[in-house]
Amino acid sequence: MAPVLSFTPEGIYCPAGDFHIDPWRPVARAVITHGHADHARPGHGSYLATPQAAPVMRHRLGDIRIDTLAYGATRRIGAATLSLHPAGHLPGSAQVRVEVAGEVWVVSGDYKIEPDGLAEPFEPVPCHAFISECTFGLPVFRWRPQAEVMAAIDAWWAENRAAGRVSILGAYSLGKAQRLLAGIDAGAGPVLTHGAVEATNEVLRAQGYALPGTIRVTPETKPGDHPGALVLAPPAALGTPWARRFGPASAGFASGWMQLRGVRRRRGMDRGFVLSDHADWDGLNTAIRATGAERVFVTHGYTAVFRRWLESQGLDAGIVATEFGGEETEGEVA
Ligand SMILES: [Zn+2]
Ligand SMILES: [Zn+2]
Repeated sequence: MAPVLSFTPEGIYCPAGDFHIDPWRPVARAVITHGHADHARPGHGSYLATPQAAPVMRHRLGDIRIDTLAYGATRRIGAATLSLHPAGHLPGSAQVRVEVAGEVWVVSGDYKIEPDGLAEPFEPVPCHAFISECTFGLPVFRWRPQAEVMAAIDAWWAENRAAGRVSILGAYSLGKAQRLLAGIDAGAGPVLTHGAVEATNEVLRAQGYALPGTIRVTPETKPGDHPGALVLAPPAALGTPWARRFGPASAGFASGWMQLRGVRRRRGMDRGFVLSDHADWDGLNTAIRATGAERVFVTHGYTAVFRRWLESQGLDAGIVATEFGGEETEGEVA
């Protein structure tokens, strides 16, 4: 019997249901875990995602044929039974559960364990085989609780306000920016947004996600218009003329990569905040154990090291190669 899922040049494939999951080349039927650019690509014949993920996919990919499946609901596709379960990565993000003849495989997509108050919290899904991302699959990656990181950002912003500086915080425009907005003390001063961030805010607000009010930066925005503001912008906008319009400013960046000193230096940031929408080392291990899976395939990130670690823990572990991927690329496509 063919395995429930196989790894093809187009991406992860289910022969029993004739569909792909987060394929990177155009296919007829694509099941999509979430709207980040390395998972939801253009050119597929049809798309299936959660109702919460669909609006942002339409916003990014334009006029696509998209069908939705609510978290926990099942759909029969050929000889496969498919369902989607919260991944906790960003609003609407899903793990994909596929069952064929009693055998269950789960594709994690990107996930994080800590509830962030905005995304639907991660739910472990029992399975025989688990395909897990491992973007941060090294023991050096251990996150502080979100509340602590948000408090550090609030304190940095307060310090800048007191010194007459604007605070420019780099964050991916889908996911991280909204998580920050929901988690910081947004009432402490004006919060300005880059157009790419604000476009995503609007899509999520229209769906009912509670996000504090923000002011979109326009070509008319001048230094001194919003004293002491916090500006949320995609990382690519930092250090550009766009970012220099605000006058004296401190630049910060919120990412799991900020754990690495070298990355902080290269980015030329005044402040790095370690905040990731991916699971850290403990989160990955907790999630993998919670599935009860005997077979684990890893993808995205430190796959070779993480695979060896899982094998040392007695698991049957493999690697799924991807063409691109990783948090560095995410959210850069507005
Ligand atoms: Zn992602
Ligand atoms: Zn990803």
